Amino acid sequence: MTLRKFQMLVNGAWIDAASGKTYESINPATGRVWSVLPDADEADADHAVRAADAAFRGPAWRGLTATTRGKLLRRLGDLIAEHASELAELETQDNGKLIRETRGQLAYLPEFFHYSAGLADKLEGSTLPIDKADMFAFTVPEPLGVVAAIIPWNSPLYLTAIKLAPALAAGNTLVIKPSEHASASILRFAALVAEAGFPAGVVNVVTGLGPSAGAALTKHPLVRRIAFTGGPSTARHVIKASAENFAKLSLELGGKSANIVFDDADLESAVNGAVAGIYAASGQSCVAGSRLLVQDGIYERFVAALTARMARIRIGDPLDPNSDMGPMATEQQLGIVESMVGRAREEGADVLAGGQRPAGHEGWYYEPTLLACTSEKLDVVQNEVFGPVAAIMRFNDDAEALALANGTEYALAAGIWTRDIGRAHRFARDIHAGIVWVNTYRAVSAMAPIGGFGASGYGREGGIHAVLDYTELKTVWVNLSEQPMGDPFVMR
Ligand code: NAD
Repeated sequence: MTLRKFQMLVNGAWIDAASGKTYESINPATGRVWSVLPDADEADADHAVRAADAAFRGPAWRGLTATTRGKLLRRLGDLIAEHASELAELETQDNGKLIRETRGQLAYLPEFFHYSAGLADKLEGSTLPIDKADMFAFTVPEPLGVVAAIIPWNSPLYLTAIKLAPALAAGNTLVIKPSEHASASILRFAALVAEAGFPAGVVNVVTGLGPSAGAALTKHPLVRRIAFTGGPSTARHVIKASAENFAKLSLELGGKSANIVFDDADLESAVNGAVAGIYAASGQSCVAGSRLLVQDGIYERFVAALTARMARIRIGDPLDPNSDMGPMATEQQLGIVESMVGRAREEGADVLAGGQRPAGHEGWYYEPTLLACTSEKLDVVQNEVFGPVAAIMRFNDDAEALALANGTEYALAAGIWTRDIGRAHRFARDIHAGIVWVNTYRAVSAMAPIGGFGASGYGREGGIHAVLDYTELKTVWVNLSEQPMGDPFVMR
């Protein structure tokens, strides 16, 4: 097979790394190299940030009205819709995500651009009812400058869109650093950004490794805002880098989300919700419902129905629309899944289903796995696997369910399965999580914020807040008095 060779986009030009270095990307479904990309370093990151900074200050972007920015975003959304199937195939080839899932995400992706497009010219300041005679004061939301968007491998285009659309709507410019494991779809997308009519330098992409290209970007003095999605240990490096230059930061990290099934739940829905939560995307989802908490009265029936449903999950080529589960995106991730399941076994977890690589597949596949756990202290109950592995625990009453649900340092998402509306609202109120789904799971919308608390990060993406988060308010004071200013040594 001929390898595909990609270049990166800086200041409107497709270029190699200045050093000429490249790295190889592997197709997870085959375990074989399929593409070669520029291995950017500090010099390339500097080049891209300077281009984005110049674009931010230059008239071609700065001189556009907010309405025109919105029109460009709308055109970009339309171009994504036109190229959805090509983008989906590219992404699936690169990160092994199911084509059904990437097609689904791509079909919805234009909404993020259309939503932000509509907001671009609605970012209003306000006049302030100042309690001082002869003073007029107002606020203006202003863009921040260069945004460094650091993207993981699991949903490259979706996680780029949710950053880029609001950042551009607010008038910022960007340098995107895709994951070294999944850059191809973002590079193709970058070509559409240019086609939509955004001026050169407004959106740049540098490909390369995290500790070199990623670190160089996040510590660059001209970067004013960092939007990071990835793991908590990388996030600690990013926080330290942001401290150097006081860059504003949002962190979308992982989770150990509880999917809670009460005795009165609709069994079929709850089983589908459990599968959607942890086996869709092979569990490589930040919001994965990786802890199943099931009430005593329904536990046996739920386990029987879930394991029967799991047995029907078709593992296979992610490009095959009939497959339900594809591979892990990286060999390293497969190793993490195997070692965490091994450790869970040693710590006393009972393997109810799965627990190994499936036979007959050459890529990085792992079976959908269900582990019965009797102690919440188990590593697999506390820590993110980022693979198709659910820890299932039983509980007796609401208080026990809530204590278990809130019992990890993560707080990203939670699912509640009950027909009792009062209980649903009590749990939605009391659960420590940034997103709560009642009788559904993994629902997303351009209008709905996502993000977590604690080890799941801070800041929100999606919704109006996200656009505002790419601005800072300027307050303007105007002295209307015709009198000369008085005593300079007292505050006005
Ligand atoms: P990761 O943290 O290894 O990498 C994320 C990105 O950071 C990559 O582009 C990587 O190159 C870059 N990076 C690595 N080291 C860096 C450094 N020192 N400085 C700057 N950038 C650096 O994460 P991953 O393995 O790609 O993705 C999986 C993780 O992402 C999981 O923990 C998952 O839960 C999390 N995630 C969270 C969300 C969310 O919205 N909350 C969504 C998807 C993934």
